[in-house]
Amino acid sequence: MTYDLVVVGGGINGVGIAADAAGRGLSVLLAEMGDLGGATSSASSKLIHGGLRYLEHFEFRLVREALQEREVLLANAGHIVWPQRFVLPQVPGGRSGLLLRAGLFVYDHLGRRRRIPASSALDLNRDPAGRPLKPELARGFAYWDCRVDDARLVVLNARAAADHGAVIETRTRVERMRVVDGEWSVTLKGGDGVREVRARALVNAAGPWVQSVVDEIDAGFAHAREPLRLVKGSHIVVPRIRGAEDAYLCQSPDGRVVFAIPYEERFTLIGTTDIPYTGDPAAVTISSEEEDYLLDLMRRFFSNPPSRSDVVWRYAGVRPLYDDSASADPSSVTREYRFELSAEAGRPPLLTVLGGKLTTYRRLAEHALQKLAPHMGPMQPAWTAHTPLPGGNLGDGGLTGFCVELCGRRSGFDPVFLKRLARRYGTLVDAVLGEARSEADLGPSLGGGLTEREVLYLAQQEWAREPDDVLWRRTKCGLHMTEKERTRAAESMAKLL
Ligand SMILES: Cc1cc2nc3c(=O)[nH]c(=O)nc-3n(C[C@H](O)[C@H](O)[C@H](O)COP(=O)(O)OP(=O)(O)OC[C@H]3O[C@@H](n4cnc5c(N)ncnc54)[C@H](O)[C@@H]3O)c2cc1C
Repeated sequence: MTYDLVVVGGGINGVGIAADAAGRGLSVLLAEMGDLGGATSSASSKLIHGGLRYLEHFEFRLVREALQEREVLLANAGHIVWPQRFVLPQVPGGRSGLLLRAGLFVYDHLGRRRRIPASSALDLNRDPAGRPLKPELARGFAYWDCRVDDARLVVLNARAAADHGAVIETRTRVERMRVVDGEWSVTLKGGDGVREVRARALVNAAGPWVQSVVDEIDAGFAHAREPLRLVKGSHIVVPRIRGAEDAYLCQSPDGRVVFAIPYEERFTLIGTTDIPYTGDPAAVTISSEEEDYLLDLMRRFFSNPPSRSDVVWRYAGVRPLYDDSASADPSSVTREYRFELSAEAGRPPLLTVLGGKLTTYRRLAEHALQKLAPHMGPMQPAWTAHTPLPGGNLGDGGLTGFCVELCGRRSGFDPVFLKRLARRYGTLVDAVLGEARSEADLGPSLGGGLTEREVLYLAQQEWAREPDDVLWRRTKCGLHMTEKERTRAAESMAKLL
């Protein structure tokens, strides 16, 4: 069979394009060499945000698009995307109150805002949001963005693609691409060995590996080296900083900003850094200097800051940024996305994706399909703006309303357990629970709230193959377990995955 489209890479951009294309009636195969979202797309700050700081770089197009996408994703994926208040304290030597006020005014008005409240000034000595902060931080602002479960955003887009007929192959590496009889012949290497598939068009959405993929295209297909800059970013997770129920935006003396975000009920997520990176993207790790940098900044802001021994989880990722060469400073490299399209007469098209944000993946996918359209023949119109992601059809009451209805209907379950599952699966929670009448019917508990039934669902419906796919990406149950529990859970999962 010849597919209309083969997509290389199952990060957010690859799955977003695969879902959009499959929903327009194209036949699609997506190959991901590891797990869906296993690279950059699960190592983010987990925000759907306009990017307040990008205003300083005059990135108005990007910020407007991102602000608008907050509303679209809230409407279509209210189970895994939700509003979050951010507190931005003023610091001596930092950005002036006037500048912050002006920036927030633009932020409030640049994109359409329906569900997201406007910003406001705060007296931090009086407002409860000031309680966890050092008393000398007396003034600041509050504004709103959204949080997201990044890995689940990827998996749900893969699910949407598959629901529209796309073939999703994980642990499958694209090894070689060549042009045969006017089509792409793509070599796939997976668990079942090596095979070839044909495609009328190819999308390279390999994130930090985008250049390695170009290098594996047979000579004879002229495709320029793309201007890509790799920038590492790292995070640490600590028990919830006392009283920090809002997210905080902490200005560092070097002008950067670092987030401290409430995470997973009882933790705080702190990040990120911006470090130029040249190594293998798969080998990226947080350094002790980065941890010190993040912890030092927390000491400047919070009365009860975390210390190194509090760190319970750490992760790092590599941003595949489009290098606009504007500056040597990695923080100021644009977060815009770009496409390179090679489509000379008589040759099948190759679309390479550079840069981007989780926040803008849906628009990126629409733009990618627009670029490919002239080379693909008739296809159906754009559809993702008004269609919920799997489980996102929560109704007018949103997640809260759905949870009330769910807890009433499933009264044999602990409501806290149900709410946690509803946040993960939305309306698909019933597919996870099946006929079960209480937790006891879900098979043995594996710790951290994880049950055998859920693991089986993840294996059957969400391409989970390894314990980490379950513990750290499709759920964050790993964070709620001890090391010993994780080892035991991994052993139990070996026979389920
Ligand atoms: C520290 C950090 C914080 C961030 N925070 C945010 C945030 O809060 N909000 C936001 O909107 N954005 C954020 N971003 C940006 C966002 O995470 C990235 O823009 C996005 O995840 C990139 O997705 P991608 O699909 O291009 O790349 P990836 O997620 O890396 O996906 C590329 C995939 O291609 C696969 N692949 C590579 N080569 C092959 C091959 N030969 N065959 C098969 N598969 C292959 C890889 O395994 C990988 O899974 C952040 C990024 C970082 C690093």
